[in-house]
Amino acid sequence: MRLVLLGPPGAGKGTQAALLSEKLNIPHISTGDLFRANIGEETPLGLEAKSYMDAGKLVPTELTARMVADRLAQEDAANGFLLDGFPRTVEQAEILEKMLSEKGQHLNAVVNFSVDEDTVVERMLARGRADDNEDTIRTRMQVYRNETAPLIEHYGAELVTINAVGDIEEINAATLKALQAS
Ligand code: AMP
Repeated sequence: MRLVLLGPPGAGKGTQAALLSEKLNIPHISTGDLFRANIGEETPLGLEAKSYMDAGKLVPTELTARMVADRLAQEDAANGFLLDGFPRTVEQAEILEKMLSEKGQHLNAVVNFSVDEDTVVERMLARGRADDNEDTIRTRMQVYRNETAPLIEHYGAELVTINAVGDIEEINAATLKALQAS
């Protein structure tokens, strides 16, 4: 199964992705985690991405898309994957569609985790990641509204919308049920 998870920063995508990855037996590919690993290892990609991430801005699409293409080319992603944090713009969605269609593949579903802004700000302040200070959170919410939210319309009828406020296991169960029905 080839899945994309959408939702504002702090919607709990990472947590849900980890559960879904285990239950559906497909790799969880998080662009944020890949960037953070590169920063930890001080790779050239990490060094380039860091200033954008620290500011809450998007890393340039060319860099991001190349990293995703490399990751999707690995063997464990041949029969399915769960993308968390990519695509984040309509341009990235078009690049992903092209990457997949060149391999004769397509997405099976796009899951949209829906949550109100007050809840996500509260969650982000509580998790305390390096890029989770109030200024950066505000920038990331703005980037989400301007760049990422248009994906909801882009995917239209392909979208499976899940209410992401509540108990983690219940949200996971609702997602699995919706995916079976989709
Ligand atoms: P995340 O862990 O998904 O919240 O991502 C953390 C940060 O990584 C974002 O604020 C961006 O700076 C960067 N990032 C992650 N995914 C992307 C993407 N698809 N395009 C551009 N930048 C990204």
